[in-house]
Amino acid sequence: MVERKTFQLGDVVQMKKQHPCGTNEMEIIRMGMDIRIKCTGCQHSVLIPRAKFEKNMKKVLRSAEGPLGQ
Ligand SMILES: [Zn+2]
Repeated sequence: MVERKTFQLGDVVQMKKQHPCGTNEMEIIRMGMDIRIKCTGCQHSVLIPRAKFEKNMKKVLRSAEGPLGQ
């Protein structure tokens, strides 16, 4: 099964790499050439290039549009 790789503003995604605070869930708070994500654990936000984000993202956990596959 192929994981969904599309995402949009407001989505909560699971990253392959865990944040130092212990969570790997990030919320997309800005989209553009670069993407700003906010850690749902410690509220720390980081700006990363889209290509790097797509590589590091594992899957979309919660879509802003509604639940996925439920
Ligand atoms: Zn964190």
